[in-house]
Amino acid sequence: MELIFLGTSAGVPTRSRNVTAMLLDLHHPVRAGLWLFDCGEGTQHQLLQTPYHPGKIDKIFITHLHGDHLFGLPGLLCSRSMAGNVNALVIYGPTGIREFVDTTLRLSGSWTDYPLEVIEINEGVVFTDADYTVSAHSLNHPVECYGYRIVEHDKPGALDAAALIARGLKPGPLFQRLKKGEAVTLENGDTVNGQDYLSSPQPGKKLAIFGDTGPCPAAMALAQDVDLMVHEATLEAAMEEKANSRGHSSTHQAARVARDANVKKLVITHVSSRYDRQGCASLLAECRTLFPDCDLAEDFARVRV
Ligand code: ZN
Repeated sequence: MELIFLGTSAGVPTRSRNVTAMLLDLHHPVRAGLWLFDCGEGTQHQLLQTPYHPGKIDKIFITHLHGDHLFGLPGLLCSRSMAGNVNALVIYGPTGIREFVDTTLRLSGSWTDYPLEVIEINEGVVFTDADYTVSAHSLNHPVECYGYRIVEHDKPGALDAAALIARGLKPGPLFQRLKKGEAVTLENGDTVNGQDYLSSPQPGKKLAIFGDTGPCPAAMALAQDVDLMVHEATLEAAMEEKANSRGHSSTHQAARVARDANVKKLVITHVSSRYDRQGCASLLAECRTLFPDCDLAEDFARVRV
């Protein structure tokens, strides 16, 4: 998987940072998979600076309905239609997301030419299929807000076909059963155990994308053991009280979650527009004192998971 940051500023855009959006390219060998997390104003313009086309996005996950995470959505939906895309799109978000989409499209006389489904979520699993599970965790913000945990399922081990053929077995339905780890009795009475011919399963990747939040109990379950955690760090440690009073976190609070939840890598984002380059460098330095494997996202930064 690869995460591309399309906007990393809190509240308002700046000259170098747009408001929040992230694109997850699943890099799956077979299926299409391009998921957008949040869609601040101007997200479609940011997308134009990347090789990605809105028509390839098949899921959009909205963390909460504050404008800096949402106001880019109607424009993106309409442009996707005008470009002649017919690929289905599903939007997940808190209560009110359906009314927002319906109302903005209706009042502006807009429509979509592709199947569009809007799902209002609760805490828990919001999506699962053969390859991935996405669950939503309630955060601590003045409006209903979720963080998303994306779990790629473990891939089963590979079957050592060469060894089975060397033993005199013929590829076919028998191999399918052995691949599932079953024990199979052959016509000559011998038993072959699939488990003996399978390599160990490949663990799937795990990712935690937080929405805006002050410290909250759900953080641990959301972030536990993930390969990559993306967390807001709106303000510096000295302004923690102010950050928390508005449902946001300080650098140290973000870093502490990463440390306590045993995550592999932390990327902080959603930084206040008060910080210039140097200010951002100090935010990052503050995080690294508690959790060294940390980066601060810039617009268009790409992180491989
Ligand atoms: Zn917010």
